[in-house]
Amino acid sequence: MIDKERLERAFKEIIIALGDDPNREGLVDTPRRAAEMYLEQFEGMNYSNDELIDLFNKTFERDYVTDSKNVVIMKDIDIFSHCEHHLALMYDMTVDIAYIPNGKVIGLSKLARIADMVSKRLQLQERIGSDILYIVKEITKSDDVIVRITGCHSCVTARGIKKRSQTTTISKIGNLTKEIFD
Ligand SMILES: [Zn+2]
Repeated sequence: MIDKERLERAFKEIIIALGDDPNREGLVDTPRRAAEMYLEQFEGMNYSNDELIDLFNKTFERDYVTDSKNVVIMKDIDIFSHCEHHLALMYDMTVDIAYIPNGKVIGLSKLARIADMVSKRLQLQERIGSDILYIVKEITKSDDVIVRITGCHSCVTARGIKKRSQTTTISKIGNLTKEIFD
């Protein structure tokens, strides 16, 4: 589990390293607040992909077994994440997921929760996609899954080349193509 006290100490060190006074009024509670924010924003660090599979496999509410081969599409799930190279926020991110059921359907709210938990880790955009793909594939046993992610990386937009840009990544197995989202 995430070590909150250690985070607080580390945030205090960052303030000192920046040359500010961690005891001044505006900053005195900042290490605690920042640590609490990290507990929430990195909640997914507490679970492996296989643990998330267990979690969302067991807690089905309205999921059912189906013969349907209709494609299930969920679009515009918004998430945020942090890039593992800079600890920089990745924002304005959306996830689109589509799969062809193979006997089992997963609740749409579960898809959103999976995307949320996977993104709340130190991540790469490509790995958010491949983690979601793996979890959805394992839970649904589908042979056809595609995950498209679009997002802005503050390590690109707010430092270095400082260009507003969006990055799109696609992870897939099977025959679905990105046109399914159009
Ligand atoms: Zn980065």
